[in-house]
Amino acid sequence: VAEKSALDYADYHPDIIRSTEENLAVLGSLQKAIEGNQLSLDYQPKVTLATGLIYGAEALLRWNHPTLGPLPPEAFIPRIEQSTLIQVVTDFSLEQAAKQVSSWQRAGLELPVAVNISTRNLLHPGFADQLAAMLERYTIDGTLLELEITEGALMTDMERTIEELNRMTQLQIIISIDDFGTGYSSLQYLHRLPISLIKIDQSFVRRCPADKGAVSIVEAAVTLAHNMGIKALAEGVENATVYHFLRDIGCDLAQGYLVSRPLSADEFFNWYHSLDGT
Ligand code: C2E
Ligand code: CA
Ligand code: CA
Ligand code: CA
Repeated sequence: VAEKSALDYADYHPDIIRSTEENLAVLGSLQKAIEGNQLSLDYQPKVTLATGLIYGAEALLRWNHPTLGPLPPEAFIPRIEQSTLIQVVTDFSLEQAAKQVSSWQRAGLELPVAVNISTRNLLHPGFADQLAAMLERYTIDGTLLELEITEGALMTDMERTIEELNRMTQLQIIISIDDFGTGYSSLQYLHRLPISLIKIDQSFVRRCPADKGAVSIVEAAVTLAHNMGIKALAEGVENATVYHFLRDIGCDLAQGYLVSRPLSADEFFNWYHSLDGT
């Protein structure tokens, strides 16, 4: 049964490209963007709340458009999710992230990098095989690749999704539920999914600890994760008050501007080394 109260907090996604013509023009140039190196990934750290130590990174897509300037993913991803272009974009993000994992590993930085996956990717025949081939190509362990999947994606075709996810966990790939609390996930299915992490949506996190409704949702999500024997991560942690609140209620991990904004690969590497003064 969907949580009605959770829906009241649903994310607001600004619609920055307004006209249809502009929309089509942007999509038409996406293919060229990939060929022309206009796409890149930024990396945002995830840290362990109790220790402040780094846990991993999330790869976030950036499009440096030649005329429109830097476009946030929400300006183009939702528009291509129903088309095969999303596969081209996801392939780009996966390849780029795998390349980065391998390059950081050679430089002595070993940590899981998470890539955002759309519903269409998940149910695309051969996706798990593609991931297996990619891990082999870059000689990286599945444990260093994490896939972030939204609740909506998981609910589209539950049986096939479970099958696909099980194949991915056989490769030791880490599976996380993204934007937790904003979808219609039926809680009774959650335990059937081979997930390692619940990422609590920032719309709830940001309202803590002042908003009692948000607090109870975040606490319930942490309890749910722990009852499943997995970790809870809070997204969008912007200040120390929220950070301490989360640590006190036993949330495991945090991600947000307080720790760091998304950084280029080089900035991320430098940020990591500045942590312990090495
Ligand atoms: P998401 O997966 O929920 O990613 C978190 C978003 O919150 C990111 O926005 C991140 O920059 C932002 N964020 C992180 N910390 C804070 C904070 O403390 N405060 C605030 N206000 N925001 C914070 P971004 O980078 O604009 O990405 C937006 C969405 O685009 C992502 O949401 C994800 O759904 C999608 N996306 C990003 N990269 C990819 C990709 O490679 N493939 C696909 N399919 N989707 C992607
Ligand atoms: Ca995500
Ligand atoms: Ca999220
Ligand atoms: Ca989101």
